[in-house]
Amino acid sequence: MGFMKLLVVGSGYVGLVSGACFAELGHEVVCIDHDRAKIDGLRAGVIPIYEPGLEAMVAKNVAVGRLSFETEIMGLDDGTVDALFIAVGTPPRAGDRGADLSSVFAVAAQVAEQASGRLVVVTKSTVPVGAGDTVESIIRAKAPELRLSVVSNPEFLREGEAIADFMAPDRIVVGAEDDVGRQALERLYAPLRERGAALLFMRRRGAELVKYASNAFLVTKISFINEIADLCEAVDADIGEVARGVGMDRRIGSAFLTAGPGYGGSCFPKDCAALLTTAQDHGVDLRIVESAINANHARKRVMARRVINAMGGEVRGARIAVLGLTFKANTDDMRDAPSIAIVESLRLGGAAVRVYDPRGMPQARPLLGDVEFCESAMSCCARADCVVLATEWPEFLSLDLEALARTMRGRIFVDLRNLIDIERLLAAGFIAHGIGRRARLSGPPALAAANAENAAAPPGPSRAVAL
Ligand code: NAD
Repeated sequence: MGFMKLLVVGSGYVGLVSGACFAELGHEVVCIDHDRAKIDGLRAGVIPIYEPGLEAMVAKNVAVGRLSFETEIMGLDDGTVDALFIAVGTPPRAGDRGADLSSVFAVAAQVAEQASGRLVVVTKSTVPVGAGDTVESIIRAKAPELRLSVVSNPEFLREGEAIADFMAPDRIVVGAEDDVGRQALERLYAPLRERGAALLFMRRRGAELVKYASNAFLVTKISFINEIADLCEAVDADIGEVARGVGMDRRIGSAFLTAGPGYGGSCFPKDCAALLTTAQDHGVDLRIVESAINANHARKRVMARRVINAMGGEVRGARIAVLGLTFKANTDDMRDAPSIAIVESLRLGGAAVRVYDPRGMPQARPLLGDVEFCESAMSCCARADCVVLATEWPEFLSLDLEALARTMRGRIFVDLRNLIDIERLLAAGFIAHGIGRRARLSGPPALAAANAENAAAPPGPSRAVAL
């Protein structure tokens, strides 16, 4: 087997995490990015994203000489590079819903200018079906002598858990059209296979589609449970109980059955839109995916309305604290975060909005208009009429709710993630609004305890308030 020399082009979430993890597995990796400031920072030990464990992993592998950073692709002409990864962004294309592949193709063109001998090019960026064919033809057109394999190796890591996901993946998907490509990826991932990771080989087009189909399925699950949550509110059932009961069916599984304010982030929205475009280009209707996307758009729009309803239909002059801004916890990524639409609508409604996020405030500043950024959750809530919890950051679990209530002017708590135990909110004197359950003022049935004891509890003195 033996370790390999790799170039990873694009040093964002995927490129940097992949590069650092490949180095950790023993390969020699050069991470490349055309953003000079990013590379200068990385050389000085500054990690441009917040990702738990990444800083230490980068520092360790730089120190032992397995990881380095460059602004230019180089070294492709002496045959020492075993594989070049393309991990640049594939954002939505301006004007339509397809993926903008200009960065991917620009890298392919640079590779074609420089490469000679042999090279395996691996697309890790999420690219629509057929993009690998285009990468191959761009390179072959300029470098016909090059012994080239173009492989698709989509990445499934989640921001916030990226290193764990990379090191212990559910599966590693490899789409290759020849043995050279297949064998290179087999060698590359040998250390992970030894730890039990499954390597799944298929044709290149299939691999490209696996990534989109996986994201579309997860999006469908999210939109599905969010709609069931709406029904729970209407019929006075609790989405937590319903989702648990549904998710314990092994055919369904409990992951991605957490109701909330709608999905966001850098991948789901753009990948689902790109998948629809691919399907339309090929004359295929993906009605389920389309509905899941539309349901999510609608959901994000109505989240602020829930807050306004919780405030009695009017927020003009109210002081509202928003806790959590990033699209999910453990990331600083604000792309398509539901908080953006919520804050915007509350401001338009005339509220004074104060916000706090443990990691995302630098990224949020350019996206949120006239809001006050606060140093802590507690200071954010000072003299607020209402708290909106928009991201499930673990640190909010240890908030001193009694102290929080004392610092506030009002008592309305809208937990859009159902993060905080409703009993604790009620005990602290809050009117507790959540997702997929009716707002509560007091005294619930002690079902959690009853479940723990595996026995039915008598109903408690709860009062329900329609949202
Ligand atoms: P990102 O925006 O964080 O990083 C992309 C990097 O590529 C940037 O640093 C940019 O400067 C660099 N770049 C762009 N063009 C370049 C070029 N020609 N030469 C050198 N560098 C260049 O993006 P990301 O989140 O890492 O996503 C990369 C790809 O991986 C996308 O296709 C995305 O859909 C996919 N992906 C992302 C995630 C995720 O959680 N972020 C997960 C799986 C797959």
